[in-house]
Amino acid sequence: MRIAIIGAGIAGLAAAQTLRDGGINATVFDKGRGPGGRMVSKRTEHGSIDLGAQYFTARDPRFQAAVSDWARAGVVAPWTVTPVVLPERQPARPETRLVAVPRMSALARHLAEGLDLQCGVQISEVTREMTGWVLRERHGETVGEFDAVLLTAPAPQAQSLLAEPSPRLAAEAAAAVMQPCWAVGLVLERPLEVDFDAGFPSSGPLGWLARAGSRPERPHTPEIWALHATAAWSEANIDWSPEAVAGFLEQAFADLLRRPPAVVERIAHRWRFSRARHPLRAGAGFIEHEDILCAGDWVTDGRVEGAWQSGCAAARRLLSLSGAGAPAGE
Ligand SMILES: Cc1cc2nc3c(=O)[nH]c(=O)nc-3n(C[C@H](O)[C@H](O)[C@H](O)COP(=O)(O)OP(=O)(O)OC[C@H]3O[C@@H](n4cnc5c(N)ncnc54)[C@H](O)[C@@H]3O)c2cc1C
Repeated sequence: MRIAIIGAGIAGLAAAQTLRDGGINATVFDKGRGPGGRMVSKRTEHGSIDLGAQYFTARDPRFQAAVSDWARAGVVAPWTVTPVVLPERQPARPETRLVAVPRMSALARHLAEGLDLQCGVQISEVTREMTGWVLRERHGETVGEFDAVLLTAPAPQAQSLLAEPSPRLAAEAAAAVMQPCWAVGLVLERPLEVDFDAGFPSSGPLGWLARAGSRPERPHTPEIWALHATAAWSEANIDWSPEAVAGFLEQAFADLLRRPPAVVERIAHRWRFSRARHPLRAGAGFIEHEDILCAGDWVTDGRVEGAWQSGCAAARRLLSLSGAGAPAGE
């Protein structure tokens, strides 16, 4: 069975791995320069900064088992941090917070090993033809013909690809409204003297801040902080320039700390689709119509764990459609 997976985030990679374990080598396409999707790190001259997913949790036993494998392979480690709610400084809910090491993108790189992954390919059309599903990239070139397609792009991007081949799935994707997030990395001249490494501001434009060097296997110097604006602030100011956002959020950070940080470099990244406001919580973990399936965090619960579960569930469905059955160990 010829299977195309659109998207090499955690969902697409989990699906491709599960298919491979079941004997099917899927082709994975991603428009980005490398795999990882929203679990990426930005390279700067001062090192990498995690500007997307900050950590993840593992609640389901299957995902916990996968995390144990990744920990043994040295690509995931617990981040021993107690974020505080600011400005009160109350500790946030205790739970095991996991990160990829030495940067968030390391997990995707590990999962992608040995897969047929084609990066820098943006799929812009999925069309049913006599002999199967034909995928075309944004210049109109055909990239392949497949018996089934697994779409793992964020909901709005999935929605536009689905409009022609499956208006029904497109309507489901439209229901999983996704919210934006402006993220900023601040490289400091000297360490900040504050008694916390991560925090959830309870008001104002910031929703999250974290000291990068407090995570395992990250350098402590220079000191880098990652800031995330709230969804409401990001939505209201989505068209600001990165420079304006970096300056504004730096000031909000200074106001919160009651001291100006000495910043030597600022990087802002706009996530138009960061997390699903209304994830579908699909019982099966995926949605499908004919031979097109959708998976990803928006289909389940809007988290890294949900994305992984969704990709695995969709792959198991594809294996059963192909007659290959579940992979060994399932
Ligand atoms: C700022 C931020 C903070 C977050 N914090 C947390 C957190 O603390 N905990 C947590 O669990 N989760 C968090 N998340 C969410 C987490 O990152 C996602 O749940 C998870 O990474 C989603 O994985 P995915 O594979 O479903 O989608 P993605 O990672 O988005 O992967 C989809 C891939 O599809 C590709 N793609 C899209 N369209 C096309 C196309 N037309 N052709 C080819 N490729 C395409 C994209 O390039 C992307 O690589 C956060 C996300 C953001 C942005």
